[in-house]
Amino acid sequence: MMFLRLLFRNRLAAMGAIVLAIILILVLAIPILPLQDPDVIKTSDRFLKPFSDGHLLGTDHLGRDLLARLLHGTRLSLAVGIFAALIAATIGSAVGIVAGYFGGRIDNVIMRGIDMLMAFPYILLALAIVAALGPGLMNALIAVAAVNIPFFARNIRGITVGLAGREFIDAARLSGMGHGRIILTELLPNVLSTIVIAMSTTVGWMILETAGLSFLGLGSQPPQADLGSMLGEARSALITNPHTSIIPGIMIFLIVMSINLLGDGVRDALDPRLRSGALSRPRAKTIVDRKGEVPADDGKGLLNLQSLDTQFHVSNRVYRAVNDVSLFVNRGECLGIIGESGSGKSVTALSVMGLVASPPGVVTGGAVRYEGEDLLAAPYESLREKRGNKVAYIFQDPLSTLHPLYRVGDQLMEAIQVHHKVTDAEAKQRAIELLMSVRIPNAESRIRNYPHEMSGGMRQRVGIAMALANDPDVIIADEPTTALDVTVQAQILALLDDLRRERGLAIVFITHDFGVVAQLCDRVAVMYGGRIVEEGTTTDILDHPAHPYTKRLMDCVPELGGGKRALAAIPGLPPMVSDLPPGCAFAPRCDKATEACRKGEIALSGSETRAVRCIHPEEEIA
Ligand code: SF4
Repeated sequence: MMFLRLLFRNRLAAMGAIVLAIILILVLAIPILPLQDPDVIKTSDRFLKPFSDGHLLGTDHLGRDLLARLLHGTRLSLAVGIFAALIAATIGSAVGIVAGYFGGRIDNVIMRGIDMLMAFPYILLALAIVAALGPGLMNALIAVAAVNIPFFARNIRGITVGLAGREFIDAARLSGMGHGRIILTELLPNVLSTIVIAMSTTVGWMILETAGLSFLGLGSQPPQADLGSMLGEARSALITNPHTSIIPGIMIFLIVMSINLLGDGVRDALDPRLRSGALSRPRAKTIVDRKGEVPADDGKGLLNLQSLDTQFHVSNRVYRAVNDVSLFVNRGECLGIIGESGSGKSVTALSVMGLVASPPGVVTGGAVRYEGEDLLAAPYESLREKRGNKVAYIFQDPLSTLHPLYRVGDQLMEAIQVHHKVTDAEAKQRAIELLMSVRIPNAESRIRNYPHEMSGGMRQRVGIAMALANDPDVIIADEPTTALDVTVQAQILALLDDLRRERGLAIVFITHDFGVVAQLCDRVAVMYGGRIVEEGTTTDILDHPAHPYTKRLMDCVPELGGGKRALAAIPGLPPMVSDLPPGCAFAPRCDKATEACRKGEIALSGSETRAVRCIHPEEEIA
């Protein structure tokens, strides 16, 4: 159902589906339609024009009814095209899966054979096959299928190579499954959607190729009609009686166009990344569409977020990822943002510099001010100048943020040279110093490494070095130490701590880890369901958590040497931000919830330095 809804949301695909459905209904209804015999020759009725008596589309050079021949020919062309696609997809995919799965010599032998086939222009190859087998529709089908096998084999082999090295295939092997079973139960389901997509986009092409062979007299043989042979027979009357060529020509056009449009729609609807908009090219800056008044500058902090709203608009659903969030951080201060996955921490951080992917992200309200300048209203050039230079990010996943094809040293040098006019030698020296500052041993040789040559922890440290490259005023660190072992984590935290003390660096530190919060942060904001539910100084929050959610989060943290105790996991799941319950979003998981909690808006109450969004807090706050 979901698939059909997505498919028909694409207007061109819907149009293709409708046209194709009409054609299919017409050809399936041939036995019950009052059609004349397509092969009966009546020379006295040669070249009758369309709408002639008894011949809706006229007649051809032998007086045969064009409507009857068109529908019979369309049925034949469609059947041949679809069968050829099925044969090519089955054989080609099987070859591709076997080559990709076994790899090594088997892959080499198979793929060199495929390369040899691909070395011939496909139409010449098809002609050679038909010439060897003899003219006829069945031989044309075999030829068209054969020349398309390499296309499927190459595509599917490429995907299979990637899948064959994945852990779930290793796990299947270790569990004792044989090669055949792994291919059928583990690999095939994963490549099936690609096969279907490739088929849906090549059926039209195969119909064209078959028509081409028939046009040359190598496909269907007289008196049998298919669209290509109809065109071939009408060649000599192209000028004098153009309707005999135009009618099958229009039908070929309609079939190929409708199949291709539908194929594109099927591909989009089956690809979850296209569905969510993840593959659509994001803009250089998040779309800002502020509905209400822009809040007046309250003058707080170096970086100041006021009533920020960021949403994701996916089809007709609205995900309120960041909902009325106000935060600020001063020079030399570290603000911690803590909460479960999906609570809106990262989207809040990305909204600061307009890095939320748009579409589907949209900032719908509030303000983000850096030194008093509203960044949401700033032109892209101004944002670009500040990104990395004034406000730098340390991202969660260094593997996806570092370019896999460039050495880490070159990437660090580029980050420096984008903002500062320095020579290559100076930039290289700075890159080495940066790597040393994040405790990477042998920094001089390590700058020549590619990201894949480094461990996860090393890459994370390169990401941190890159954020420090331009001595920014603010660093937004999104769980930067998650991939590091505890000793390196302690060193990195100490480095960040030194920088903020010595240089007045402001840090926004996003984490799950209360230990890190205790070590580095001055103040903490706790987020849940896209909102801040509690904020205060680190000491206040850790010693006297007021919101039941904060208290439960802290109860989940094991204490070293704290004796035996059951870790109290928070029951239930975080809420869907597209479907937040009325009242307190934490109510379904809160053991203190009352009827009043489920009604109306619950405000963040307290002072500028200590506030909680709860009507039955664990502790009363001043
Ligand atoms: S408002 Fe009610 S439901 Fe929400 S956290 Fe407080 S006590 Fe629990």
